[in-house]
Amino acid sequence: MLTIALSKGRILDETLPFLAEAGIIPKENPEKSRKLIIATSQPDVRILIVRATDVPTYVEYGAADLGVAGKDVLLEYGGNGLYEPLDLNIARCKLMTAGVTGKAEPKGRLKVATKFVNVAKNYYAEQGRQVDIIKLYGSMELAPLVGLADKIIDVVDTGNTLRANGLEPQELIAHISSRLIVNKAAMKMHHQRIQALIDTLRNAVLSRKN
Ligand code: AMP
Repeated sequence: MLTIALSKGRILDETLPFLAEAGIIPKENPEKSRKLIIATSQPDVRILIVRATDVPTYVEYGAADLGVAGKDVLLEYGGNGLYEPLDLNIARCKLMTAGVTGKAEPKGRLKVATKFVNVAKNYYAEQGRQVDIIKLYGSMELAPLVGLADKIIDVVDTGNTLRANGLEPQELIAHISSRLIVNKAAMKMHHQRIQALIDTLRNAVLSRKN
């Protein structure tokens, strides 16, 4: 059995057409079904539906052999317990700092609100800057508006959400897209099978680009 961990929403929507090219089609619509384990047209392939931030955990510990996760999630997850053999080039966006439009940075220590705490720590450490990092779980845009933080770190696509809240994108931290990730032991144990799937997916990604 080959188990693939996916999260609902953008990643699932954009990954299913690639899996279809490999002949893997879910038996029921994962967006509509309440089931968390979904059988596919291939009796020995199943899909797990997990939270986006949990995909690397399922794959690293081998509860899933493969998964698809945003590079933002992977940067935050950290470590080197996973293979990341393929950029699927989907769900593209940018990880950026943002602050109140036109407002100068404070003289003292910067307060940065984000759900990407590890990304924030690494980013400011590389700059040799000491900052206070405030962990939030959502609605990051609110933090600079009510004085909880000077800046946020978040994923930005069009920037419309920032602008609607009087914020502007500032520094680029990383370009983001979704990646195929593979459990290290599974890659060794089922090498031919997983490599064949990676090759099919790579061809699907390449033919989509052209
Ligand atoms: P925006 O187009 O910049 O207004 O993006 C709207 C919101 O969608 C952002 O605040 C993000 O939380 C989210 N978002 C946009 N693109 C992505 C992506 N590729 N992956 C995850 N979240 C995203």
